[in-house]
This record gives sequence, structure tokens and C-alpha cells, in this order.
Amino acid sequence: MVLQRRSFMAFASAGCLCGCAGAVHQLPQIDGGNLSLAQSEVQAAGGTPSRHQVSDEEVRQILDAALARIRPAATQLCHEMQVGVCVWQFRLSSDRSLNANASPDGVITVNRGIVEYAQNEEEVAVVIAHEIGHQAANHVATGQRNQQVGALAGAILLGALGAVAGYYARDTSGTMAGQAARAGGQLGAAVGRISYSKEQEREADYLAAVILYRSGMDLDKARGFMVTMARASGRKETGMLDTHPAGPERLAGWDKAVAEIRASNGRLPQRA
Ligand SMILES: [Zn+2]
Repeated sequence: MVLQRRSFMAFASAGCLCGCAGAVHQLPQIDGGNLSLAQSEVQAAGGTPSRHQVSDEEVRQILDAALARIRPAATQLCHEMQVGVCVWQFRLSSDRSLNANASPDGVITVNRGIVEYAQNEEEVAVVIAHEIGHQAANHVATGQRNQQVGALAGAILLGALGAVAGYYARDTSGTMAGQAARAGGQLGAAVGRISYSKEQEREADYLAAVILYRSGMDLDKARGFMVTMARASGRKETGMLDTHPAGPERLAGWDKAVAEIRASNGRLPQRA
């Protein structure tokens, strides 16, 4: 009886935390028309995008140059939002897949692959600005919390199953249930990580567009990277699918965001 009550309370709090972990701002919705336009554009753009040869020196130069252009506006935006981490540490990974990420303590890692696929400085800037968006909106902390909630829910579920199995096996040591709980925790953590992304990914794109707009950068040039990611999203090699929605939906969301940002002259949307 006591155990059941505890389990229920743990699930109830898990539901609350998941509900609190959406986007900070109200984001524009995409409709079927936006999506089908994006789909035909991506299809017309052709299959797998190609990477180009760049030296280590060139990779560092383009990352530094792109960062220098967006940094003042990004810092200002972060302080205006007042919810996330505004001191960032940038790292370059030699990973050639099309990905970047934001992790605790303001760490932003950009893969070499981003620069290999990017066609101009704006495309590199939009990726860095997207990761800054995750930091500025405090997605990293809420994402970690979701991961823990996922681990907790998984542990409770499989732990309960293990307890039942133990009962039928007349095993009073609790070892079996303990093992099941540990396995369940790992499973739940993986599920928690995936479900954390979607809303917050759209918000990170929106914030990236605001940062580039306020930096006086060409949003239409930056848009090319959304097309590249959508083209690459059908391929297993990208690595992007693990953590980012990269299909035509993302391109459609970008276009909606940019239209809104241009109309508002770079203002942040209302809080959610
Ligand atoms: Zn992201």
C-alpha cells in the first residue's frame, strides 16, 4: 500500500516536470501549406548534400569569424531573456557528422562536419546561434531534468515488474527487482533524452534567427543550412537525427520564424 502510494506520487511529479519543460516563448505554428512547400523545395534541391575540403586552420577561422559577428547580439539577447546561461565556452570537435550540441556549464560544441557542409559564414553562424539559443533559454537544464524524470519513471515501471517476478519466484532478497530497476533506469534515460528536444529545437531555431537578424546577417543565406539538413536527413551518416529534427518541417518552421521576426523588427515573441 505504501509502495503504491509512493509510485503514484513519483509519476505525478514526473508528469508535472515534463509539462514545464517546453519552450520559453510562444512560437508560430506551421500549417500543411508551409510543409508541402518545404517538402517540394527539399526534393527539388536533390539528394545528399556534398561536403568540401577544409583545413584545420580554415575550420577555426570560419568558426571564429561567425562567432565574432553574432556574439554581441547573442549576449544581449540572453541578458534580455534572463532565464538561461549567458557565459559560453566554445569547443570544436573533429567529428565529421553534421551536428553540434549544447551541454551543461555553457559548453557549446560544434563538429567539424558543420563547416564541411556549410556554404558560407551565415550557415555556420546559424548553427552556433542555435546552440546559444539552447543555453539562453535554459533548455540544457530542463533537458537534464527530463532525462532524470525518464530514468525515474523507467526505474519505477521495471522495478515494479521485477518485484512481481520476484514474488512469484519466492525470491525475497530483492536482487532481481534491483537489477530490473537499474535496467529500467537506463532505458528511461534514453527515452527522456529524445522526448526533450522537439519544442525546444523549434525555439532554438527561432532564437538563432533573432540573433542573426539583430547581427545584421543575411537570413536567406543562413536558410541554406536548413535545406542542407533536410536533404541530409534521409541519410544515416548525418548523426543529426539522433538529437535534432532535420526534415522539411524544420525548414518550414524557419520560414515562419523569419517572417515573424522581420515583421517585428527582431523582437522576442511573448512568453509561453
Ligand atoms: Zn538543437
